[in-house]
Amino acid sequence: MEAIKDCCSVESSTQETAEDCCAVKKEKATTVTECPMCGEKGKDINLLTVKSMLLPIALETLDAHQTYRFCASDNCNVVNFGDQGGRFTKDDVRLPVFQKDHGQDTNVCYYFDWTRSKIMEEIRTTGKSTAVSSISSHIKAGRCGCDLNNPQGSCCLGNVTAAVKEVKQAIQSLA
Ligand SMILES: [Zn+2]
Repeated sequence: MEAIKDCCSVESSTQETAEDCCAVKKEKATTVTECPMCGEKGKDINLLTVKSMLLPIALETLDAHQTYRFCASDNCNVVNFGDQGGRFTKDDVRLPVFQKDHGQDTNVCYYFDWTRSKIMEEIRTTGKSTAVSSISSHIKAGRCGCDLNNPQGSCCLGNVTAAVKEVKQAIQSLA
């Protein structure tokens, strides 16, 4: 049975691991690591993350025996692909994917609900962004939920830092 790693784990001896209650035994097969659509190498992703992001109709087609990866290319429609041909696109997931959707209301942090427009609004109002420090403090307190709520299945902090930088540049270019 596979345990989920806490993607934003804080050093702790009592680190919690969730177990997949419906785990299917996996046999190691030849592993596809490149996205079948764009050819970029995909990141490993936990099956539970894939399941939690899929719309019900897509979830019904999931082959739990495959090992899935996340495609982070911004110009590629594929979100997850399996090592035996399974693939899910942007239309199959519940939420817009940060890397693939540049909309202002797309989540940057999926569990504390930061969007590009929220970052923009804060910087416009106060001149600075508290997004990174706020999320960091939640991570330190062990509240991170990226492993299940973020389509990439890992910590959002890098994306948040990048988004804050982007927003600042956008504001400067308008000034
Ligand atoms: Zn791709």
